[in-house]
Amino acid sequence: MRNRKTSILIINTEGKGNRTLLIPTKLLLHWKKYFAVVVLVILCLITALGFTIFHRTSEIYQAEIEKADKIKNLINVPKARQTFQSIDESIFRINQLLDSRGLAQMNFENMGGPENIDVIKINELADFYKEQLNDLEETLKSVPIGNPTLSDNIISKYGYRRNPFTGHGAEYHSGIDIKGERGASIRTTANGTVEFAGWYGGYGKCVIVKHENNLKTLYGHLSEISVSESDKIESGQIIGKLGSTGRSSGPHLHYEIIKNNEKVNPNDYFNFQ
Ligand SMILES: [Zn+2]
Repeated sequence: MRNRKTSILIINTEGKGNRTLLIPTKLLLHWKKYFAVVVLVILCLITALGFTIFHRTSEIYQAEIEKADKIKNLINVPKARQTFQSIDESIFRINQLLDSRGLAQMNFENMGGPENIDVIKINELADFYKEQLNDLEETLKSVPIGNPTLSDNIISKYGYRRNPFTGHGAEYHSGIDIKGERGASIRTTANGTVEFAGWYGGYGKCVIVKHENNLKTLYGHLSEISVSESDKIESGQIIGKLGSTGRSSGPHLHYEIIKNNEKVNPNDYFNFQ
């Protein structure tokens, strides 16, 4: 019974090549059971396949979520906000500095930063601008920029000029003369160290301040000196009062800028344009 087979005869209607199929009798008697087993196996396969697909998909999503978290951490909104606020404050301080020296405020539209802004790089970008501005602020403090007096009445320019005493013949004027009220405050135009403070021949009472980058400033014909040699002074600090000491024809400040031991035109340092 166990190995019995049932013959199925397939008859060709054209009368040739009839075929006989031998099928286990068991299969014919219990086909429902076998069919159920086959269906079960197929269902199992489908379930396994579905599970694999779901697993793969969730792995992809997991990776995406991790990536998103990473980006979120990189952006670090509060830090970026803090940095930008610090940039605002730097610009405010720089503008105050320029304003105190009677200069037009700067336009910060193009600082030469990177052009393509990737959102992930926002913190690096903020740091970049912050650094640039800090550098600029430091440079502004150590380079003599602007006017040491509140007056902009320049009565004599740098270069060759007619002799102011004799009225004829040319003489080289090593600085600029700014006319002002006797006793008006004279302020240094950059951070530095007082190199000389005292009587200096035709300059009268004179102060020379040494700055970074081989730059010096000289303030002549003062009526009073309020700093001493070797004093460390800050940009905008009062160093003395306007006067007419030495070879002077009236109250004015003689102002010089000395670069690499050469007297240069202070006018170049009055403005950025
Ligand atoms: Zn002069």
